[in-house]
Amino acid sequence: MSISRPASAELAATPARPITFPLDTPPTSGEIIEVAPGILWARLALPFRLNHVNIFLIEDGDGYAAVDTGIADERTKEAWQALLAGPLKGKRLTRLIVTHHHPDHIGLAGWLCSQFDIPLLTSQTGFLACNNISLSPNALGADAFRAFYRAHGMDQQTAEMVSTQGNYYLRMVTPLPLTFFRLVAGEKLKIGARVFDILSGDGHAPEQIMLYDASAKLLLAADQVLARITPNVSVWAVEPDGDPLGLYTRSLRAIAASLPEDTYVLPGHELPFYGLHTRIAEILAHHEERCELILSAVRERAMTVADLVPVLFPRQLDPHQMSFAFSETHAHVNLLIHRENLVQEQDADGISRLVLARR
Ligand SMILES: [Zn+2]
Repeated sequence: MSISRPASAELAATPARPITFPLDTPPTSGEIIEVAPGILWARLALPFRLNHVNIFLIEDGDGYAAVDTGIADERTKEAWQALLAGPLKGKRLTRLIVTHHHPDHIGLAGWLCSQFDIPLLTSQTGFLACNNISLSPNALGADAFRAFYRAHGMDQQTAEMVSTQGNYYLRMVTPLPLTFFRLVAGEKLKIGARVFDILSGDGHAPEQIMLYDASAKLLLAADQVLARITPNVSVWAVEPDGDPLGLYTRSLRAIAASLPEDTYVLPGHELPFYGLHTRIAEILAHHEERCELILSAVRERAMTVADLVPVLFPRQLDPHQMSFAFSETHAHVNLLIHRENLVQEQDADGISRLVLARR
């Protein structure tokens, strides 16, 4: 976000508007729903537990600017072609806006841009982050990164999985175009008759782009605020002391402080909704509860990040879920270290355990 003032006071003072969903049924495959004048909503399938990503098409002269892409597989390419041959027949894509570098949002960017000869618009960090992984997919397998996970108590199998995630990413992303148009927070972007404020937020993905049309009070929120699920916020080995959850909560407060509570939110997953401030307050409370759980557990005994995973995720996890749960737990731990509630102590074997900070 371009505006960053602490908003706890504003949050508390705002009368809560409940979360409501103006549309209760999402578009089916090949279908398009107009969610606001000149803004179309479609869905693409994902082969994950979260089984879809929303894409939006914004009227832009004689065509539509597309927002996000789905992952790079045949099914998604066919879905795009079906949309253009079906509900979008006679219209062209004018440009592609990508909100962040996760595969479900950027996966087909290279293909769409070359197939339809359109420019890519995204944040500098989104562009570089995608290229960084794509050009060096084995980097996460470096010994130093494995050692980081092992030092925080991660088991061998999960450490192996996390270390090869770059290759997994590569299978879901087509190579990006060589050039892009940089979207910068604080600037404006004109699309057709609408003028959007460009916002960016960190925590879920660095410099994730959101677009806000102030005259319509309409926010394309990407994954920063979702109605029911909380977006993944993770510490990665490349930035071991990073505080993505601190960045994320700061971004949420800035959104609540600067956007009205009757903003219509068009998110990257699930249904469009009203109740932005209520949802932000819920997400902030959710993360505070998790921080409290960690502090109570560490009050009993010193614990590694791995020891803390079942405190936050009591159910049985497969290695894939474990890698996300681990990194998400780590994000809470690093927030508590930044707040000086926890400190890290290393034993003779190099294992890091968390203890309460002495006051
Ligand atoms: Zn994402």
